[in-house]
Amino acid sequence: MAAIHGVERQVSFQDHITSVNGTKTANWTPDSWRSKPIAQPVNYEDDALVETALAKLKHVPPLVTSTEIWTLRRALKNVALGKAFLLQGGDCAERFDYCHDDTIDGKIRLLLQMSLVLIWGGNKPLVRIARMAGQYAKPRSKPTETFEGKEIPSYRGDILNGYPPDGRTIDPDRLVQAYFHSAATLNYVRAQLASGIADLHNPMDWGLGHVTDPALLAKYTGIVESISGSLRFMKTVGADTSSQLQSVDLFTSHEALLLAYEEGLTRKLKHPKNRDVPPIRRSFAQANGASIAKGGFVPSEIPPAEDTGYYNTSAHFIWIGDRTRQVDHAHLEYARGVENPIGIKVGPTTAEGDLVQILDLVNPRKEIGKVTLITRYGKDKINDMLPKHIEAVRKTGHVVVWQCDPMHGNTRSTEEGIKTRSFQHIFEELSAALRIHTECDSYLGGVHLELTADAVTECTGGSEGLQDKDLSQAYHTYCDPRLNEKQALELAFLVADSQQQ
Ligand code: PEP
Ligand code: MN
Repeated sequence: MAAIHGVERQVSFQDHITSVNGTKTANWTPDSWRSKPIAQPVNYEDDALVETALAKLKHVPPLVTSTEIWTLRRALKNVALGKAFLLQGGDCAERFDYCHDDTIDGKIRLLLQMSLVLIWGGNKPLVRIARMAGQYAKPRSKPTETFEGKEIPSYRGDILNGYPPDGRTIDPDRLVQAYFHSAATLNYVRAQLASGIADLHNPMDWGLGHVTDPALLAKYTGIVESISGSLRFMKTVGADTSSQLQSVDLFTSHEALLLAYEEGLTRKLKHPKNRDVPPIRRSFAQANGASIAKGGFVPSEIPPAEDTGYYNTSAHFIWIGDRTRQVDHAHLEYARGVENPIGIKVGPTTAEGDLVQILDLVNPRKEIGKVTLITRYGKDKINDMLPKHIEAVRKTGHVVVWQCDPMHGNTRSTEEGIKTRSFQHIFEELSAALRIHTECDSYLGGVHLELTADAVTECTGGSEGLQDKDLSQAYHTYCDPRLNEKQALELAFLVADSQQQ
């Protein structure tokens, strides 16, 4: 008997084989989440319309392929092993309206510039994942909000309802609209990358005019000159002809919140040939306490590895949010069945025991880098929480990507009730994460940010010196406050600088 999800359950030999083998996941189907309790439920009024939308999603082409997903899995394995760094960023709530060339270009360029700075700082290859082309569903703390003295349904993201107060009805057709907006966004990203938007031969605008502090300006200019100098050097010695300098990989991601959508885009696909998984015989033997090296016994009835698996083809990377990561609930049930890399938000309310159960559930074979733990404690809680979580995970033998999200634990309201975050607090949590991982002999593998390339005023601080009173100038977010282009680049400069110390 094994206790899974707190329920005593008989594990059959076949279950055991399939979970160790990893080619099938025991008792899992793309819709098995439907039999579990669910947080952030969605009540559509008309089931027939939902069925029509799902039927459509089930036959449209995948947005991403199993080969791409495994390219990212391999890259994240390197991150988990301390050989690369992960930058993930984009809007809190992506709107269908953001499916627009300038908006997308801005984000690609910003992520590229930030990654150059981070490469300079950490001396490691960068893995880039955009919160884009599908970040359309938002968890909410309350089902309703007050508008002009009346309670109206909360905005739950463009995949569910509209933002205008009179457009808050949940509409199943938005499931299909989300797919087509994702497809158009991703198509443009792919086209721009193929056409040289990320070509490092092109001059870059680093826009440091707002930095008035001479010491900071000197620091940032020094970094830019060093990056430009390296690029010039490569050109001079003729080492700049590699296609790597002309383009980069940019993967897509979103929170897997609206499971009907995720299910609709889940496909059984052929695994790519060069998939890097532990040899089936060895993992089976290890699970049975035998050692092949010592001539351990390997039962002959192990089934051959399957050549297909389930993939979420709506994005390369999906994550489970802080409000939906209950071990015995629907969201983790869905997440445990797909081959994609999975992010799990980890917050101040995550118990160590839960964290261990989540890892065992989502990654029973302990594949390195399959899971990214996205920690978001807040600057005042990280010192207490992170060391305990690092220790708890270490004891399990799971090798994860540790990523710091310094945004979500640092949200505050101004006196006027505007939701904001202070650049200083964000940097404090990120610096603490870097320090604590080093102290605990662990590796901070990445950072997860809410940002936009637009000149918004949603977070305070940074070299522009934005204050609470300035927020109304360009407060455009439909959910959480994002770093603007200057603040995001500045954060990258500060992280890179601290890595060089
Ligand atoms: C988010 O990433 O936008 C989010 C809602 O985060 P969390 O689940 O950590 O609160
Ligand atoms: Mn958010």
